[in-house]
Amino acid sequence: MSDADLVLRSTRVITPEGTRAASVAVTAGTITAVLPYDADVPAGARLEDVGDDVLLPGLVDTHVHVNDPGRTEWEGFWTATRAAAAGGITTLVDMPLNSVPPTTTVDHLRTKQRVARDKAHVDVGFWGGALPDNVKDLRPLHDAGVFGFKAFLSPSGVDEFPHLDQEQLARSLAEIAGFDGLLIVHAEDPHHLAAAPQHGGPRYADFLASRPRDAEDTAIAALVAQARRLNARVHVLHLSSSDALPLIARARADGVRLTVETCPHYLTLTAEEVPDGASEFKCCPPIREAANQDLLWRALADGTIDCVVTDHSPSTADLKTDDFATAWGGISGLQLSLPAMWTAARARGHGLEDVVRWMSARTAALVGLDGRKGAIAPGHDADFAVLAPDETFTVDPAALQHRNRVTAYAGRTLYGVVRSTWLRGERIVADGDFTEPRGRLLTR
Ligand SMILES: [Zn+2]
Repeated sequence: MSDADLVLRSTRVITPEGTRAASVAVTAGTITAVLPYDADVPAGARLEDVGDDVLLPGLVDTHVHVNDPGRTEWEGFWTATRAAAAGGITTLVDMPLNSVPPTTTVDHLRTKQRVARDKAHVDVGFWGGALPDNVKDLRPLHDAGVFGFKAFLSPSGVDEFPHLDQEQLARSLAEIAGFDGLLIVHAEDPHHLAAAPQHGGPRYADFLASRPRDAEDTAIAALVAQARRLNARVHVLHLSSSDALPLIARARADGVRLTVETCPHYLTLTAEEVPDGASEFKCCPPIREAANQDLLWRALADGTIDCVVTDHSPSTADLKTDDFATAWGGISGLQLSLPAMWTAARARGHGLEDVVRWMSARTAALVGLDGRKGAIAPGHDADFAVLAPDETFTVDPAALQHRNRVTAYAGRTLYGVVRSTWLRGERIVADGDFTEPRGRLLTR
């Protein structure tokens, strides 16, 4: 490590081979070696000894709705990337919708990149969108560097991002398979949703009944069938229904190119505890029962579910009314995802290594950034979070960096305080103090 300019030392460094005391050598923003704890520090290098705090790879959150430009009052690149940095996330991939324009043409992608460029406190990549009428835009978007394409199989919640029917799905997926791209899917079947009781109002039980598990199960089965037929790569977004797990496991065993994510809110919050009228807990698909949650955890442990992402999708507070039918659907939790997951994971006997695998290594692999992100290993970007895992804090929404401080985690006491976050060898936030934005825009 003679040419290292920075050495980070901790008694607990999480590497792909396990957790150990180590000194991590960094040269010009890249990890060059993971050395013994007491390795000599070269003359020109700065030593950062974080003691017994854990050094882990910065998280990679591949499901974030930044909403910028167009609905910047809901969130924005400045606030979202600061919240990410404060939460130990060093890479996020922005969803193509809720911004205006949505990321559905190369022109729109350029607009979004222009807006993001000077505001990104962490690295930012982009998903494209697959709409009924933009099949011709998919390959140019792929060539311009989006990480894949998002499609809805039921209404998305915003008019400018219509969903695909089965025929349109087949057409888009065939096009994407033609260049071996990735289709990521909001899988709820519109006919099952339409057939479910739609009472509206403030009762959470009514909302839950309006988004039944079989809407997810049916949509996932149809998606699997299409992926199987076309040998296409597909990814199920925000899985909530544990009833879909057997068919997912079967498809994967058959060699269908299928990956699956779930979210901290499905793993840490339960339908039984959502107060009536509390639409900060509203998302689609919904937070389900505790028994369902136990099965999601089991699937995460056995690998049927690959990864955990936030699906951070905030709005202004006025859209979070007490009527679950009309309130904006989306959970705001970007800054809290690591402590929320760690708190629940440790209670279930999992280690921080597991959380890192689900929220950093596997998400990096999903978007093809493994080799560069998601691990403390030579050749990777020197992106780190420094975490005090045994320290607790109580969530005060007013203290969050999100533009709108409405969150389902308010008042919860969580384990895991992020002391600092590092991007390519630079400390970008420590104890609430941020540097100027240093994030880069990433392409596939
Ligand atoms: Zn989403």
